[in-house]
Amino acid sequence: MAHLSTFADAVADLDDAEFVVLGVPFDRTTSFRPGARFGPDAIRQHSWNFESYDLETGIDLGEARIHDLGNTDEYGSAEQMVEGVRAELRPIYRAGKFPILLGGDHACAPPSVEAYPDGAPSLGVLYLDAHLDFRSSYLGDRRSHACSSRRIVEKVGAHNVVVLGVRSVSHEEVDDNRSIGMPFVTAHEVAREGIQATVQRALNMLKTERLYVSIDIDVIDPAYAAATGTPEPFGLTPRDVKYVLDQAAPRLVGLDIMEVAPPYDQGNTSALAARLAREAIVRVMASRRGR
Ligand code: MN
Ligand code: MN
Repeated sequence: MAHLSTFADAVADLDDAEFVVLGVPFDRTTSFRPGARFGPDAIRQHSWNFESYDLETGIDLGEARIHDLGNTDEYGSAEQMVEGVRAELRPIYRAGKFPILLGGDHACAPPSVEAYPDGAPSLGVLYLDAHLDFRSSYLGDRRSHACSSRRIVEKVGAHNVVVLGVRSVSHEEVDDNRSIGMPFVTAHEVAREGIQATVQRALNMLKTERLYVSIDIDVIDPAYAAATGTPEPFGLTPRDVKYVLDQAAPRLVGLDIMEVAPPYDQGNTSALAARLAREAIVRVMASRRGR
């Protein structure tokens, strides 16, 4: 099955595509255990596992216009990766296409937001993560995956980012954020108040015309998504994240799924990541087609 090297149903030419998949096999800023560089190919492989018809929307993914650009080059440094990803994605946004970035560690997300064109409709970012990723710099690297929400705040503004699912932070990050004011909703709040109320609260805070969703797979509990660099207990469920995508879909213009580390996977984490990407596609199609 040679087609396993592309994302499922990615049969459209680039010019005709509505959704464009790009893999970034980069995990040089991983702080605990590496392996996310193998994420893009594992997610692609697992994406073929699913039936293409979506029971909830009546959409068949066989009708989706998806193109898979394959993987970027392997980069020697985070700075080079950032430059490379921005350059790949700028023309994708400019052509009105929807990028789906498969990581890689979470350092790969900021350039995907930074590539969004100036002057386009305003962009807010819903950032799903067990961690705050709000360090100014980590181990001397401002482009570390531990700094990704902070770099995104520098692009779109603190009030246009909400982190959802947080449960692991450093004292310094929380102190820094006191003056900067990026809102976050903890995983404990989600557990107490329910996913519907907390997602509505997060979406109401994002007053932008468009939305980008960045998924660090560690936002989901390790019981469901153990294959990641820094697994963190007390997480969201896969269904919670599905709900986020369903609710964000009407304003959604881009998505990334990061930190899937196949060396620790029995297959379920990669399958979950692939399924979430497909859920986003189907929900965006449904909302654009008025279903
Ligand atoms: Mn992260
Ligand atoms: Mn994380």
